[in-house]
Amino acid sequence: MGKTYDTVVVGAGVFGAWTAWHLLRAGQRVLLVDKYGPASARASSGGETRVIRMAYGPDEIYTRMAQQSLPAWTDFFARIGNPALFRQTGVLWLAAADDAAAAQSVAVLTRNGIRHEVLDHDMLLRRYPQIAVPPGGWGLLEPESGGLFARRAVQALVEDNLRAGAELRIAAVEAPVGDTHLADIRTDSGEAIRADRFVFACGPWLGSVLPDVLGGRIFPTRQEVFYFGTAGDRRFCPPDLPIWLDFGLGYYGIPDIDGRGFKVARDAHGEAFDPDTLERLPTPMRIAHAREFLARRFPTLAEAPLLSSEVCQYENTWNGDFVIDRHPAFDNVWIAGGGSGHGFKHGPAVGAYLVARMLQDAPAEPRFSIATKHGVQQRAVH
Ligand SMILES: Cc1cc2nc3c(=O)[nH]c(=O)nc-3n(C[C@H](O)[C@H](O)[C@H](O)COP(=O)(O)OP(=O)(O)OC[C@H]3O[C@@H](n4cnc5c(N)ncnc54)[C@H](O)[C@@H]3O)c2cc1C
Repeated sequence: MGKTYDTVVVGAGVFGAWTAWHLLRAGQRVLLVDKYGPASARASSGGETRVIRMAYGPDEIYTRMAQQSLPAWTDFFARIGNPALFRQTGVLWLAAADDAAAAQSVAVLTRNGIRHEVLDHDMLLRRYPQIAVPPGGWGLLEPESGGLFARRAVQALVEDNLRAGAELRIAAVEAPVGDTHLADIRTDSGEAIRADRFVFACGPWLGSVLPDVLGGRIFPTRQEVFYFGTAGDRRFCPPDLPIWLDFGLGYYGIPDIDGRGFKVARDAHGEAFDPDTLERLPTPMRIAHAREFLARRFPTLAEAPLLSSEVCQYENTWNGDFVIDRHPAFDNVWIAGGGSGHGFKHGPAVGAYLVARMLQDAPAEPRFSIATKHGVQQRAVH
C-alpha cells in the first residue's frame, strides 16, 4: 500500500486540473490520475481553442462563473509568462430579430457590470461587412471576452500543479467499491491508491466510471470542428473579426488566429460517441452542412478549402447544467462534470466551487446536484 494523499483527483481535464489547483492553494497533498494524460486528444478539453463569453441568456449563474473565471485564466497565464494562451478577440452574438436569449443577456450583462455593446442591424453591417446579416438581425458584442488555447492551457495548468507539489499518475481508475467511506481506489493494473478524499472529474467517461450514479445520465455526443482557409484575408482575422456565435443557425466560430484557419463548429448535438474507441474522421455530410452555413453567414468563405478538422465529444447532462456534487454512496467521494459543450471557460470557477464545498462545506447550488440530472435529453443551457 503506497503513500496516502489528502485528495486524489481522477481526470486531468479542465475540471480536474482546476480542482487540483485550488486544492493545492488550500495546502493539500494532491495526486492527479488520468488514463490518457492531461487534456489528451481523446478528452473534451483536448481541443485547440475554446470560447470564453459571459452572455448566457437567462442563465445568470453561468455569466457569473465566466466572469469569475476569465481573470483567473488571465492571471494564471500572466504568472507562467504565457499571456497569449488567451486572445482577447471579443465575442459577438449574432442575434435574430426576436432573439429572447440575446435580449435577456443584455439585461444580465448590464446588471453584472460586464462591458458590452448592442449593435443594431446597420451598425453590425457597417462594422462587419464580411458577415451577412438578415433583416432585423442585431449583435451583442463582449469586447473583453475571447478564446482560450484549451489543450495547451490545461497542460500548462497541470505542469503548474506539479511545480506546486502535486503528483501525476497515468493510469485508468476503476469504479469505486464499498459503502459510506472510500478508503482507496484501484487502477486497472491492480494498484490501490489511498486518500482522505476522491474527486471523479472524468468528463464524457463519468457515466461509465460511475454507472450506478451517472449511467445513462451523461450523454457523450460527436462534435465536428472545421478550419477553413482564409488565404490571409484580414477580414477573417482578429481584430477585424471577433469570435462569433449564431445560436439561431446553430454554429459558432473563431477567426483565423496564428494562421490556423477560420474555425467553424456546429453546436447541435451529434450522435452518441465513445471517446475510447471511435475514430475521429470528419464526415462529408457535416462538411457540406458547414459550407451551407458559410454561404449564408460568411459568403466569401463558402468555397474556402478545408484545412483541417477535429472530432471531439460534448459530455452533456440532460439539460446542460453541470454536475458537481457528492457521491450519494460515499461521504468522501465527489463528482465534477457535465460540461455539456460549454464547460471549458468555467474551469476556475468549477474548481473553486467544488473545493469550497469539500473543504468548507459551502452551500450547494441545486442546479449542480445529481438529483436534478435526468435520463432524457432536453437541452436548455447553451
Ligand atoms: C468541439 C467542442 C467545442 C467546445 N467548445 C467550448 C467552448 O467554446 N467554450 C467552452 O467553455 N466549452 C466548450 N466545450 C466544452 C468543454 O471543452 C468541456 O465541457 C470541458 O473540456 C470538459 O472538461 P472535463 O474536465 O469535464 O472533461 P475532459 O476534458 O474529458 O477530462 C476528463 C479526463 O478524465 C480522464 N479519465 C476518464 N476516465 C478515467 C479513468 N477511469 N481513470 C483515469 N482517468 C480517466 C480522461 O482521460 C480525461 O483526460 C467544447 C467541447 C467540445 C468537444
